[in-house]
Amino acid sequence: MTQIAFIGLGHMGLPMARNLLNAGHSLSVFDLVASAVDELAAQGARAASSAADAVSAAEVVISMLPASRHVEGLYLGDAGLLSVIAPGSLVLECSTIAPEAARKVHQAAATRGIALLDAPVSGGTAGAAAGTLTFMVGGAAATLERARQVLAGMGKNIFHAGPAGAGQVAKVCNNQLLAVHMIGTAEAMALGVANGLDPATLAEIMRQSSGGNWSLEKYNPWPGVMPNAPASKDYRDGFAAELMAKDLGLAQEAAQATASSTPMGALALQLYRLLLKQGQGKLDFSAVQKLFVE
Ligand code: NAD
Repeated sequence: MTQIAFIGLGHMGLPMARNLLNAGHSLSVFDLVASAVDELAAQGARAASSAADAVSAAEVVISMLPASRHVEGLYLGDAGLLSVIAPGSLVLECSTIAPEAARKVHQAAATRGIALLDAPVSGGTAGAAAGTLTFMVGGAAATLERARQVLAGMGKNIFHAGPAGAGQVAKVCNNQLLAVHMIGTAEAMALGVANGLDPATLAEIMRQSSGGNWSLEKYNPWPGVMPNAPASKDYRDGFAAELMAKDLGLAQEAAQATASSTPMGALALQLYRLLLKQGQGKLDFSAVQKLFVE
């Protein structure tokens, strides 16, 4: 049993923390939203009154926050958590943030003698609930070995991507590719239907042919093709389009920093921005289908 502080109990953090409780760990939890803290307290966690209170006796600190600015705000500066967390502790920063921001937090932790990993996840809310997330980890290999048992309580695949920030680089590469094949799938579905094909028939033909990809396998964007996909539930309960736009922005920043050429990623970001401007940012990212139909 490990003493864990869990900060950020949103769509992802809440089910991840619940799985750690079920795995027998002792949890102290905090979120700015009190109802999320109460929900876990009812399941056996200690409700902390602040982030600093949550980490006071923690061996491992886990955070799952929206974006870079929240993570930097939580850990850095005079009032930041790194000045409160005991040296020798382990921090697992699981939010999707800029690789540069992750490196900044790594460096600040190292100067305090705190081991830290950037460990963003893939698998969405369903993977978080089922405990089958994929972790893409950046940081020292020895630190990952210390973290492995706790990570295994929340996920199935744990990859060491490389040194500090490498987990975030892997995450933005993956999500850029996901956006590109989702948009390509949505475009092809609309083209086929406009030319008289039945959407389910077209989806099955492409899934079994050379156009096959994850969006066709698991997450078809056309409503009604897959009963359990967000597209068949008014694009609710998935991975928000605004979060995809955030990740595509991070990919463009990483491209800028290295003068990489990423025309498909740039176009994907522009299409998601268009979707957000239409007021659809809270919908699942497969709602990009809406750009291709009347
Ligand atoms: P969310 O907005 O549902 O949850 C974030 C939580 O952090 C909120 O409950 C918020 O109140 C809390 N928070 C913010 N600042 C805080 C602070 N200073 N102290 C305490 N709590 C604070 O977001 P989410 O969907 O759970 O995503 C979290 C991260 O995981 C994001 O970086 C996202 O990109 C990434 N991610 C999300 C998904 C997904 O499907 N939702 C999938 C993979 C990765």
